[in-house]
Amino acid sequence: MRIGIYPGSFDPVTNGHIDIIERSIGLFDHLIVTVAKNTQKSKSLFSVEERVDILKTILDKYPSVSVDTFDGLTVHYAINKNAVAIVRGLRVITDFENEFVFALTNKKLEPKIETIYLMTKAEYSFVSSTTVKEVASFSGCLSGMVPELVAQKIKEKYGYGK
Ligand code: ADP
Repeated sequence: MRIGIYPGSFDPVTNGHIDIIERSIGLFDHLIVTVAKNTQKSKSLFSVEERVDILKTILDKYPSVSVDTFDGLTVHYAINKNAVAIVRGLRVITDFENEFVFALTNKKLEPKIETIYLMTKAEYSFVSSTTVKEVASFSGCLSGMVPELVAQKIKEKYGYGK
């Protein structure tokens, strides 16, 4: 069984993430979408538990996808789960620099684990969780950037929903 993991902060999950997940499904027998608990990113909008609940609801229709959390090194988590690869998405040049370091560090730590990159779909190349939070904080329209459920949860958080 070929297991892949897709780690991230998913605060919140965007249509860009969902696209990467849907395209990864065919590459693995099982894909684990896993929320990092120990992210360095400062201001979080949703708690880890809320992010997991949202992901589980959205990804429920995919039998070969499960949702989990992890802390510590991603490669250690991957080894623990018997994964063959870590999936990441690539948007712009600035992603490349960080991801290059991430992939080479992972390779050094655990040569058995591959890090696989899927290029973003052009229509999601500008979508990031950070941008979504910025737009949401000023009550901007999130249509096309996040799933409907996420848009609704964000509205509830910022108190301008319903
Ligand atoms: P972000 O970088 O938006 O805070 P995450 O840390 O949750 O999001 O990202 C997890 C992975 O998903 C990273 O590899 C990131 O580059 C990728 N990703 C995020 N947004 C997109 C997008 N719009 N298209 C493709 N990949 C993306």
